[in-house]
Amino acid sequence: MFECDGCGECCKNIGHIDELKDFDRGDGICKYLDFETKLCKIYENRPDICRVDVMYKKIYKNYYSKHEFFKLNYEACKILKENSKE
Ligand code: SF4
Ligand code: SF4
Repeated sequence: MFECDGCGECCKNIGHIDELKDFDRGDGICKYLDFETKLCKIYENRPDICRVDVMYKKIYKNYYSKHEFFKLNYEACKILKENSKE
């Protein structure tokens, strides 16, 4: 299972994600991100694109091993944290 520390950074950078265009409050930040807790307000019902494990099973298993896919995601998390807007 993908290990997310709940930093919320990915939810502040959704401007380039087509599947989340209706979630963008206009500045690339998801309208469902709770800034106090840094958690998703619709966590149980969040779309698949927000679920690393589901996206792997549905699509990316055809292209990557799970280890490779998680590694790519961990690297993306690291970049987002380094470029944090806060
Ligand atoms: S950037 Fe990575 S660690 Fe932070 S909330 Fe998103 S998936 Fe989790
Ligand atoms: S729906 Fe939830 S998990 Fe997905 S980007 Fe928005 S706040 Fe993040």
